[in-house]
Amino acid sequence: MQVLYKSTRGTGKEITASQAILQGLSEDGGLFVPTSIPTLGCSLEELSQMSYQEVAYEVMSRFLTDFTEEELKVCIAKAYDEKFDTREIAPLVQKKNAYFLELFHGATIAFKDMALSILPHLMTTSAKKNHADKEIVILTATSGDTGKAAMAGFADVPGTRIIVFYPKHGVSPIQEKQMLTQKGKNTYVVGITGNFDDAQTGVKKMFNDKELAKELAEAGFQFSSANSINIGRLVPQVVYYVYSYVKLLEKGEIEKGEEINVVVPTGNFGNILAAFYAKQMGIPIGKFICASNENKVLYDFFQTGCYDRNREFVLTNSPSMDILISSNLERLIYRIAGNDAEKNKKMMEALNQDGKYEITEEMKGKLQEFYGNYASEEETAQMIKHMYEETGYVLDTHTAVAASVYEKYVKETKDTRKTVIASTASPFKFTRSVMNAIDEKYDRMEDFELIDELSKLGKVPVPKAIEEIRTAPLLHDRVAESDAMPEVVRDILGIAR
Ligand SMILES: *Cc1c(COP(=O)(O)O)cnc(C)c1O
Repeated sequence: MQVLYKSTRGTGKEITASQAILQGLSEDGGLFVPTSIPTLGCSLEELSQMSYQEVAYEVMSRFLTDFTEEELKVCIAKAYDEKFDTREIAPLVQKKNAYFLELFHGATIAFKDMALSILPHLMTTSAKKNHADKEIVILTATSGDTGKAAMAGFADVPGTRIIVFYPKHGVSPIQEKQMLTQKGKNTYVVGITGNFDDAQTGVKKMFNDKELAKELAEAGFQFSSANSINIGRLVPQVVYYVYSYVKLLEKGEIEKGEEINVVVPTGNFGNILAAFYAKQMGIPIGKFICASNENKVLYDFFQTGCYDRNREFVLTNSPSMDILISSNLERLIYRIAGNDAEKNKKMMEALNQDGKYEITEEMKGKLQEFYGNYASEEETAQMIKHMYEETGYVLDTHTAVAASVYEKYVKETKDTRKTVIASTASPFKFTRSVMNAIDEKYDRMEDFELIDELSKLGKVPVPKAIEEIRTAPLLHDRVAESDAMPEVVRDILGIAR
């Protein structure tokens, strides 16, 4: 069955998967969604016998129906290879009352690698399929992890350039060093004097800037996106929810048909939406537990039905979740609005103008499968410390937010269903916050001393991604005001005004 894509704000015009990937964002400002979510083509028992790559094919081929079998298999093989430090790709680790789904074994040790190691291949394949003759310029806003993972994926990929905008004062020191040491003739990194929302809003504006698009086209370029607003990011993320379920089945941890819960540390709402899509495909999932840090706009939304970004932006120790405009929530809003683009558009316009919107009671009724809560900085640090003391397992700050929210959920509901917690980053990426949570004495140490110390403490070798940047030279030093983002892009691409 063919799956087509249309905009959450548009008139209903349908395009193919490869066109949607190439374009990134719809020109009306909406996000592309599949016209219907496909179901799995084989049984869960069959899937339980498959490798990660095979499961990836089964899932992705259902969504990306205009890719040939060969095209998709080549993309998958190139993505999920030795760049990952384990053949399982996404291993499950049982600790206390949950299974941690470790999504940080790729090249940049955050879960963004799960999708961004394949997106460049999907993108270049899409360009070929559609006979696109322009050089693709990937514009990316990052709260710290997407930027590095996207550059690692796109570095020196012919026919592409990538420009990353990150909040200069809103990422961890390791995250910043990872980005500023990025090699590749086609990679550009820009620190902006604003927060992640400013970066994301700036990027979205450029996508919708008709004048800029014209200048670009004349110079032989076209924009695309590596953010989770691109459907090519979302689809590969569905894979590991399917995979983790069937691996639990294979190991006999759950029985056929048994429901599990999923906990996701959430920022832009992409990862948890992928879990929601996995359920529509046929994976028995009970609750989607949406975990926020002190930027708890989503918690308030699930409580009240009102999405309100008018509040103070808090810089936390889980910076990849420091977000007040969760872009992918729009895909869920569209769905619970009965796939009504007009209704969705009104709400998104209200968000744009007044910084808030309210959903109807009827829409609220369709959110029963979601549970939202948040963890304070203090609770997050306590979780890291307790988990380490009780089990020896060291959580990163984002995963600790999720674990802390899960603890609250269990206390509140007494729900004993088996639970998968999306473990979104290696603790080595947020070493200082993690080590300080375990013991304040570590605060005196240098960043790389701390890394060696963490390796000893957690009994895990220092990941290659960290070893590589220990002595690597800084290659990027651009800084700009967020208002000046279009000028920076013109400058990088050599487009005169
Ligand atoms: C990006 C990121 C998140 C948030 O994921 P979303 O899909 O944006 O909700 C959580 N944790 C880490 C470590 C991340 O890099």
